[in-house]
Amino acid sequence: MTTEPTAAARYPEHEKQAAVLDQARVIGEFLEWLSAPGGGKRVIAAWRPSFCTGCERPWEPDIDGSCLGCGRDPIYKSEDVLLPAHESFVTLLARYFDIDLAKIETEKRAMLEHLRALPVVRPPATWS
Ligand SMILES: [Zn+2]
Repeated sequence: MTTEPTAAARYPEHEKQAAVLDQARVIGEFLEWLSAPGGGKRVIAAWRPSFCTGCERPWEPDIDGSCLGCGRDPIYKSEDVLLPAHESFVTLLARYFDIDLAKIETEKRAMLEHLRALPVVRPPATWS
């Protein structure tokens, strides 16, 4: 006799996500509060390593010290810059909890396929 795999076995990334849902909700609420007026409209920032202000590529020196990308003088090398991190809270939370959002999407599609393959159950005629 073959048995159907359990939902946990079929959708392991959703299982991982469900296990951290309460924690993620609290952290997500904190992040929303942080960016709202009550939290001082703060942003999450990330360091951008030095880059060439001429060609905008990460700074990589050639043998002579010039920009490997465009050949400009090292004077075009920027300092490391602190910039707003343009990542959604969902992306940040997924990274923190090691949840693969691409796998979540794949599993969602598989769930829909599974549901569509189920036999249609019609309500009794007395329900209409
Ligand atoms: Zn350059």
